[in-house]
Amino acid sequence: MILKTLKSYFGYTGFRPLQEEIIQRILSKKDTLVLMPTGGGKSICYQLPALLMEGTAIVVSPLISLMKDQVESLQNNGIIARALNSVNDETTNANIRFECRQGRVKLLYISPERLLAESNFLLKDIRISLFAIDEAHCISQWGHDFRPEYTQLSVLRDQFPAVPIVALTATADKITRQDILQQLKMKDPQTFISSFDRPNLNLEVRRGYQQKEKIRSILAFIRRHANESGIIYCMSRNKTEALAEQLEEEGICTAIYHAGLSTAQREQAQDDFINDRVQVVCATIAFGMGIDKSNVRWVIHYNLPKSIESYYQEIGRAGRDGLPGDTLLFYSLGDLVLLAKFAADSNQQEINKEKLNRMQQYAEADICRRRILLNYFGETMEHDCGNCDVCRNPPQRFDGTIIVQKALSGIARTHEQIGSHGLIDLLRGSVSQEIVERGYDKLKTYGAGRDIPAKDWQDYLLQMLNLGYIEIAYNENNHLKITEAGRKVLFGQAAATLVIIKREEKAPRRGQKKDRQPSYTLLQPELPLAVFDNEDPRLFEALRQLRKKLADQQAIPAYLVLSDKTLHLLATSRPTTVEAFGEVSGIGEYKKEKYGKDFTDVIRRFKGT
Ligand code: ADP
Ligand code: ZN
Repeated sequence: MILKTLKSYFGYTGFRPLQEEIIQRILSKKDTLVLMPTGGGKSICYQLPALLMEGTAIVVSPLISLMKDQVESLQNNGIIARALNSVNDETTNANIRFECRQGRVKLLYISPERLLAESNFLLKDIRISLFAIDEAHCISQWGHDFRPEYTQLSVLRDQFPAVPIVALTATADKITRQDILQQLKMKDPQTFISSFDRPNLNLEVRRGYQQKEKIRSILAFIRRHANESGIIYCMSRNKTEALAEQLEEEGICTAIYHAGLSTAQREQAQDDFINDRVQVVCATIAFGMGIDKSNVRWVIHYNLPKSIESYYQEIGRAGRDGLPGDTLLFYSLGDLVLLAKFAADSNQQEINKEKLNRMQQYAEADICRRRILLNYFGETMEHDCGNCDVCRNPPQRFDGTIIVQKALSGIARTHEQIGSHGLIDLLRGSVSQEIVERGYDKLKTYGAGRDIPAKDWQDYLLQMLNLGYIEIAYNENNHLKITEAGRKVLFGQAAATLVIIKREEKAPRRGQKKDRQPSYTLLQPELPLAVFDNEDPRLFEALRQLRKKLADQQAIPAYLVLSDKTLHLLATSRPTTVEAFGEVSGIGEYKKEKYGKDFTDVIRRFKGT
């Protein structure tokens, strides 16, 4: 019965881990807490019970954009869902109330404020099947998205003792978890924690890149992802703007999103992204929670995030549909220094420093990155993942004693009064104000490392930091200090092993700036990569265009018509009848009837040629 409902409404033939157990538990009207990573498949855990139970499920959601997305998605599966919120005009809301009273609505999305306002009115008049509290971590002051309104949801358990409550979140830490259970006053709750592994996300870190190199590799990266949506997270508002401008110059449609913009501007950016009117969003961390776009294909971190939690949540926005998602993190000494300063200046110094340390360890790791991530979330993985840069390209080492000695000697000769940039200038024999003013050009080390490019020095310094040869004195202008271990290498009592630096990206063809020819253009899109064996990328492209047309006609995002995964499956199995079309994963009864003819027409025509 449950499986049949899953196929007929959502088009899926099987459950993901824990989904079925969670659904059974809710059907037996018991309180439940669900922890699953972003993209893990939380929604179905309450949507399916809502369909199987009598009455209306009330879903509390913190953001109007999330409600909108969910409601459109459900309606596109032939399910009657509504959202009661402050954006609707009063007539619309009155109609929705009326429909609810008639018992026609299966799922009602509502903001926490509205819910409280209605708890003695509408909610008393209708039959409620369950309460689902989405993004439940918003209840906790310890979390990053605290919403004071969420704390008042405790009234639900008192006012509706017989209605089961299910709380769902992707934030797994213990304090938040306990907060949710307590504040919602859950009765004998059972907590389900699914694995936080997202094997479809490819993890990659690049160290010590300078600005120009970053841009070059970002352009090359985006070129490999022609037509595919992605997010670039930056540390500052200025950076998002500068970067967006550079991408636009190269012909890449880009939007900006940060807290300094007006609400209208931010909504516009979000809407453009969701509806594929822009390919890329350059954003600060403020962007993301409000979107459920399932076909974000890649995420880049232009700067180091401040914790593994933030990092994981942000990369989690790629590949929600389960298809490959590419992630890339740039890691530089400058970012580390800046973040360390923020941490030192913050209220929760110790915690924030520790979080940054863990992030740093991840970025510098030379063991499987996924093992580190999962370990951070309290899971152990028995094997290497094969889908991270370390697994694909295990580090090779060499005797780097002389290199380390040169750097340490530079630090020693400047009496540990030099930062990383100054040191690199010194080693490379560059002429800078600091060098000349301080007479560093007279030192013996001046120019001793000329044979090594500045970017490689950056990398070696990071390695030295990681190996514990140097420290950064954050409270002393970020000057470098030599540690005990470093002294041993400097005085020849110990050898130093470094990792060979590999630069993966060849510089792409430069755009000829003079005649303003962008080096990248959307006018000649490359064909998408096939995801499955036997898939026809040209057919995929044709189906993608049909999807876009159908989406525009209904003014909904393309991924709500059919997911990327379903499109790839169609381009692989190439069904020519509506019946066969309906067999494909992700296509339920409603979509079969609604879209079957259009898509099979295109497939038949394609086969005929
Ligand atoms: P979350 O809310 O946990 O971030 P969603 O509920 O949005 O994740 O689900 C992510 C994606 O996975 C959606 O595209 C959803 O349709 C899909 N999905 C969920 N459950 C299944 C399943 N059992 N089989 C196939 N796809 C699924
Ligand atoms: Zn790995």
